Amino acid sequence: MSYISEIFGSMVFNDEVMKERLPKETYKALKKTMLNGESLDINVANVVANAMKDWAVEKGATHFTHWFQPMTGITAEKHDSFISASADGKVTMEFSGKELIKGEPDASSFPSGGLRSTFEARGYTAWDPTSNAFIKDAVLCIPTAFCSYGGEVLDKKTPLLRSMEALNIQALRILRLFGATETKRVITTMGPEQEYFLIDSELFNKRMDLKYTGRTLFGAKPPKGQELEDHYFGAIKPRVAEFMKDLNEELWKLGISAKTEHNEVAPSQHELAPIFTNTNIACDHNQLTMELMKKVASRHGLSCLLHEKPFAGINGSGKHNNWSISTNDGINLLEPGNSPRENARFLLFLCAVIKAVDEYQDLLKVSVSTAGNDHRLGGNEAPPAIVSMFLGDELTAVLESIEGDSTYDKKYNREMTVGVDAIPVFPKDTTDRNRTSPFAFTGNKFEFRMVGSRQSIAGPNMVLNTIVAEELSQFADILEKADDFNKVLNNLLKDTIKNHKSIIFNGNNYTDEWVKEAEKRGLLNLKSTPESLPYFTAEKNVRLFEKFNILSRIEIYSRTEIVLDEYCKEISIEALTYIDMVKKEIIPAVASYIKELSDTACSKRLFIAYAECETESKLVDKLSLLMRSLYNKTELLENKLIGVKNFESSVEIADYSRSHIFETMQELRAVIDELETNTSKKYWPFPTYGELLFSV
Ligand code: ADP
Ligand code: MG
Repeated sequence: MSYISEIFGSMVFNDEVMKERLPKETYKALKKTMLNGESLDINVANVVANAMKDWAVEKGATHFTHWFQPMTGITAEKHDSFISASADGKVTMEFSGKELIKGEPDASSFPSGGLRSTFEARGYTAWDPTSNAFIKDAVLCIPTAFCSYGGEVLDKKTPLLRSMEALNIQALRILRLFGATETKRVITTMGPEQEYFLIDSELFNKRMDLKYTGRTLFGAKPPKGQELEDHYFGAIKPRVAEFMKDLNEELWKLGISAKTEHNEVAPSQHELAPIFTNTNIACDHNQLTMELMKKVASRHGLSCLLHEKPFAGINGSGKHNNWSISTNDGINLLEPGNSPRENARFLLFLCAVIKAVDEYQDLLKVSVSTAGNDHRLGGNEAPPAIVSMFLGDELTAVLESIEGDSTYDKKYNREMTVGVDAIPVFPKDTTDRNRTSPFAFTGNKFEFRMVGSRQSIAGPNMVLNTIVAEELSQFADILEKADDFNKVLNNLLKDTIKNHKSIIFNGNNYTDEWVKEAEKRGLLNLKSTPESLPYFTAEKNVRLFEKFNILSRIEIYSRTEIVLDEYCKEISIEALTYIDMVKKEIIPAVASYIKELSDTACSKRLFIAYAECETESKLVDKLSLLMRSLYNKTELLENKLIGVKNFESSVEIADYSRSHIFETMQELRAVIDELETNTSKKYWPFPTYGELLFSV
């Protein structure tokens, strides 16, 4: 056996282990639960728990935990020991089915957006048997969903699982109409490409901003940035290669298949792409990947930055959310097929996605709105805040031909009648490359590129699954009643294309022309989190989530609170960090430099009569002016922070944080960057952009 296949999944209670360790009947029952999403019988759970424990103890585990994803966006775990005392005073290792299925963490310390008062802060976690248990740091981790006893959802995973179920049900309705009687289940598949920066830890530790906020709050532009684009797919440096090798092994042990790793456009930026899998598993895996990236980096004297915009003026980091829909027998429903029937099916699913993205642009934007991602969207090499869709010229031509009953290919005089004709095979490289689009069709999947690098992918995918489920349900309602299926289908597609084609844009999304054009088309341009979040509670969206029982009205409101609250906290921490760095480090440093310059000027005058000290004097003047401005702006920022007290609602506070605190920070930053440019290297107390970006 090769080394990789030996370690791959070695820390996962996966299918192979289950087959080997579970009695046949138990294995079958568990598999049924996993594949059909049925609930688990307690007797089965007891047997599974025991086998799981034995396996984990053999692998050196001493504790177990229900591993879950609260609204903080990172994972949480509370460790319990397997050890229990027996009557004769000895200890035994125990783990029951009850403990496997359900856990009771103290829910009070997790954000609930006002859903629970703390005296009734009881919540429970429930195993998601579709995601395998694994061992991390000698702890058996059981992937779970997290709810309150009142039944409110407190985590990111439960709505994601529900949205997958909603899409399953609606997609099956459609597939039945196409004669698929065998298909049992439809799942969404996901391959999140993760971008990140690696910098030297020693330099990282010299910057309070990186430590507290994850990004540089200031930093003058380096003489060399990413202009040359010589980093992209360039040779990977030895230290980074070592890190990647180590990271891969850690990921493989957990059954996470890191497939490609390469440099990104910005210096020090890299990307990891896993092989796609079920969306909920991909979500668990991505959380683990981010955690391990940080941990493994520190072993190599590196710091892994997952922030969406660690450096102004340099590419930000995103998570390219590659999403598709697939049947349990492995048919990709977003892949053009070979026969007219398969093509009609493909076009129907495609139109469902087009309609969904158009009608729920707001929700898609809401799902990627965070303080960090606000810096990125619309910045260098990132999609703007406008949601649009790239389909490529060929596919767009096909849609236009369907809409207009005309030939889609003038050269070959080809026509396209749904249900009768097959879509031609597109040359792949012409369809799958438009890096500027926020939502691009890439041949057999969609790549939603607005997702932020630090974010959990649960939210964006919950939205995607739900909005597509809604459109499929509308389509199924119409088609199930149709007498002449092909005719009704043709008309349905035609209408959908006509009404929703304004969301399709195949050009360059980075240009100002597109921003103007999008406005003309009536597309939303929600630039910031405070602008976006109120759309979450729009009546049409509440109705949507309630219809599929994914989130209740109260849960949607509470989630809005949580996101806005998080936004305000992040801005406030950044403001406080600015103030601290200015007072404790920047002012003293520049003052010392000014003193040295003045001393030099004085001594020149003293010892050499009529000496020229124009340079020193000019610099002292300039720095003194900047220092005054720095001081004033810092004082202004302090006052703005106090000003928060005048507002009550989270929407108001978020708006204020954006328009006052954030804006003042931007002004302050400009002054600091100017100071950095004019201060001697000897005195400037922080590693510069050049040093940070070209250190590894
Ligand atoms: P690139 O975009 O760099 O050309 P690929 O298109 O091969 O690379 O894949 C990018 C990511 O998309 C990978 O993580 C891959 O696993 C994922 N992916 C490929 N096919 C699907 C699919 N059907 N569903 C979800 N993700 C997919
Ligand atoms: Mg890609």
